[in-house]
Amino acid sequence: MAKVSVGLRGWRFDEEEIITEDGELKPLDEIPEEPRERLVRLVALVEEPCDACYLEHGESEIHRCREAEIVYGEPRGEVLLCPEHEPDFVYWFREAGGSDHKGTMEFGDRFHEWIAAGNEAPDGYASVEHVDEDPDGLPDLPDQQEIQERVEAGFEGERIDVRELAGEGSADERDEDDEDDGVSETDLQDAGVDLSTDYPSNR
Ligand SMILES: [Zn+2]
Repeated sequence: MAKVSVGLRGWRFDEEEIITEDGELKPLDEIPEEPRERLVRLVALVEEPCDACYLEHGESEIHRCREAEIVYGEPRGEVLLCPEHEPDFVYWFREAGGSDHKGTMEFGDRFHEWIAAGNEAPDGYASVEHVDEDPDGLPDLPDQQEIQERVEAGFEGERIDVRELAGEGSADERDEDDEDDGVSETDLQDAGVDLSTDYPSNR
């Protein structure tokens, strides 16, 4: 089953779970709960700054922060990164105890604390592309262009309004069964969601 990413790389989805045979994003109520939660969360995360940049520059100098391109961790406990700060995360995860927090909601907080304490990867520490991967913890690079086009096709003509859906969060859905009164496809389209942001890596 092919793995794909949407919006940000890092989180991977089983293509068959989120994309129809026609290459469009499935209605949310047809997507299993776990990937649906991440998908909805992603809408709130695209265009957000890198966490490490933000810790460095703060709200007052937010214009100096690079836009996040990468997301790791659990929805609402995630880490957002720019490529320049990804080696710091990889080092923390692999060498500084970060993997101990894998799968927890504290994952992001622990990384933020580590960065805020002034830690960073040693000079020249390999980025993700150059290290052997933990298949569950570190992603390979997806074909973003293809998925971007697919998702765009699914939301043709819709306007972008990320904030509206961001407020709709998926936390309340977590414990619900199949009977879903959370975010529906209609809600998503009403919100004008377009997961296909520009990718900073293309600049
Ligand atoms: Zn950064």
